[in-house]
Amino acid sequence: MAKTADKYFKVDPWAIIEEGFDPSKGRVAESIFSLGNEYMGVRGYFEEGYSGERLVGSYFNGLYEETEVRHPAVYKGFVHKSRDLTNAVDWLYTRIAVDGETLDIAKSRTEGFKRKLDLKKGVLIREFIWHTNSGKKLKITFERFTSMAVHNLGCQKISVEPINFSGKVSIISGLDFTAHADWWKDSNWDCLKKEKTGDIYAILGKTRVSDLYLFSSFRIDSGDISEKQVVEKDRFIGVSFELNAEMGRISSFTKKAVNFAGKRHVKDPEFVWNKGLELAEKYSPVSYEDAFREHCAYWDNVWKNLDIVIEGDPENQQGIRFCIFQLHQTYHGGDPDLNIGAKGLTGEAYGGKTYWDTEAYCLQFYIFNNPRAARNLLEYRYRLLPQAMERAKELDCEGACYPISSIDGEEGCGAWQHSSLQIHVSASVAYGIQNYATICQDREFLYNQGIEMLIQICRFYASRVQQDPITSEFGFYGVMGVDEFHMMVNNNCFLNYMVKKTIDYTLSVMDEMALNAPSLLKAAREKTGLGEDETLFWKRIKDNMYIPRKENGLFEQHDGFFRLPHIDIDSIPVTDFPLYNNWSYDRIYRTDMIKQPDVLMMLFMYNQDFDLETKRINYEYYEPRCIHESSLSPSIHSILAAEIGRHDDAYEFFRFATRLDLDDYNRNTNEGLHITSIAAAWMNIVYGFGGLRTKDGNLSLNPSIPAAWKSYSFRLLYRNCVLHVKIDREFVQVYTEGNKELMVVIYGKEYRIGNGDKMLRLPLKSGK
Ligand code: BGC
Repeated sequence: MAKTADKYFKVDPWAIIEEGFDPSKGRVAESIFSLGNEYMGVRGYFEEGYSGERLVGSYFNGLYEETEVRHPAVYKGFVHKSRDLTNAVDWLYTRIAVDGETLDIAKSRTEGFKRKLDLKKGVLIREFIWHTNSGKKLKITFERFTSMAVHNLGCQKISVEPINFSGKVSIISGLDFTAHADWWKDSNWDCLKKEKTGDIYAILGKTRVSDLYLFSSFRIDSGDISEKQVVEKDRFIGVSFELNAEMGRISSFTKKAVNFAGKRHVKDPEFVWNKGLELAEKYSPVSYEDAFREHCAYWDNVWKNLDIVIEGDPENQQGIRFCIFQLHQTYHGGDPDLNIGAKGLTGEAYGGKTYWDTEAYCLQFYIFNNPRAARNLLEYRYRLLPQAMERAKELDCEGACYPISSIDGEEGCGAWQHSSLQIHVSASVAYGIQNYATICQDREFLYNQGIEMLIQICRFYASRVQQDPITSEFGFYGVMGVDEFHMMVNNNCFLNYMVKKTIDYTLSVMDEMALNAPSLLKAAREKTGLGEDETLFWKRIKDNMYIPRKENGLFEQHDGFFRLPHIDIDSIPVTDFPLYNNWSYDRIYRTDMIKQPDVLMMLFMYNQDFDLETKRINYEYYEPRCIHESSLSPSIHSILAAEIGRHDDAYEFFRFATRLDLDDYNRNTNEGLHITSIAAAWMNIVYGFGGLRTKDGNLSLNPSIPAAWKSYSFRLLYRNCVLHVKIDREFVQVYTEGNKELMVVIYGKEYRIGNGDKMLRLPLKSGK
């Protein structure tokens, strides 16, 4: 593997710790120390101001600004506007001064810097001692959390402890709408209103082009402060006061910020202001301690039910808990209008947009941990079906073409190669519907929203598919597969196969509905105007889809792939990564190097369709050609490696996936966290080492254990039953919670698993 770990944080099973501050790692640390609660998120920036390199990132899920996409030459189907997650109000804004000197870690003298993200409680704590120019020394501690119990609430606590003096510490605390990322020239916000009402300081912002509204407010509480003065500046409201600090005693104040983001349909600023104020009056008087208690209760519950324990491997224990933590922070199903951006709420790369990643990777985690959230993710796609149908028309097609990259349902990827040629997203949505409906047995969703989406998705592919003039087989021409290092190819194997499977599933759901729910089928047919000829044509497509495969079972990624010049990927120096930044654009398309699994992705997603030998042959061919330039890559390799018995590979790829951000393997954690890889790391344990597979919704396990581990355990929520799985070097132990029983196939044999007497203990078969 050409990528290497860059170790910076301390290893701890329940925390991420930074001891001493290295400014060159400042942005990476900001991403790692991000906090969020699905509704809003903040990077781990220094709230007291910092003149060094940083990104003051504060985001609200789905809150975007619009920019024009300019193309030198414009053709039909090109995207003309991009809507990207916008940096919003800095509700943590603080300035601290002593004797007229303002604290700034880039310039001030400090010692004992320590920052700790506590994964158990979801709180970020930072402390250091500040030596002022006037010779004073004071210890400062910052604490913050974004409440998981009340999504609008963010809390901050700042404590100071003078070491060699008693005196005043001047503070300014506020709400700042001026922050912006490097690539925006200025903040995207206009300030419509700001006001102090009672103890609440409030401000209303509006994005300049997209006309979205954001209300923000705060209240300060402390026993140790002087009278407060309102501070008003352009796009800023705050308060200044003095903290009465006594030598050897800790003085602190708390700030509770209540935010309310208007959704894209809300065009009434008065409504947003009034609603925001109502929430502020309700939540900001709650004490910091009570808010923290409720927040911790949420996390207690998460860890009680969803923890993965690895014995014998502290680094990966930390890695997998970090992944579970970040996934919950990014999304937990609170609102079907929200989805998962590729960087979650931790940075602006990928514009906060949703990709095929949600259904192909993240959904599995929610299906087995939080089915309500899984359904909400699919409801989100249903709500945006009209936009997907519009996009199909723009591409001279019919039905629904889900966007490759979007924050609001409209295609938002300005690079035409991706937005027009990457058409696997709709099939990925169909795959998500199938997985969810089969595993969670939600026929209500499938027979109403699901079937409508499936019909429009099949219709799209039927309008895009073409035929080989010699063999008459069907296939897709002029596409970019999942592997983004090959553009405008014909017969991408994965896409052809996915569409075949999508049609097959859709027709089977229609057959099932004809028996079980004929009136709902009739309604779906009428709503979509589906005729008999159409479904007959779909059947012809799926029965005659071209799947490029050699006799020995090796699939060709696309027509002509086997004749591409070879490159030894291990010869690429680590300084060349990320390749997009260091190689000329066309250079990456000219060899057999692939960015991420494509054929192997097909073997993972439709696992039951292929035998072990086929997986082995394809793994051995494609693995040495994959550079893992996408974070979606290592875990899929790991899962397949575990299945074919290449346990060392499986472990190496797992480390890469699980610590991708903690060890900055791809040298771009500074831009934000790789949320899809984080979800994939969960799959890596459960599907990879646990060997979980589902066939027609039935569970099977085929566990192995990496050589370095003593044991590991995970839990799955399956049809209202919690299944516990623990694997050590000798045994596989499986049991259910409560009085529930479950049929599970383990090492190819079916068992009835229950609690107590019915708990199963089998000898471990492989991978010792
Ligand atoms: C990958 C895509 C993925 C996107 C967002 C890209 O680098 O190639 O497959 O959807 O990142 O994660």
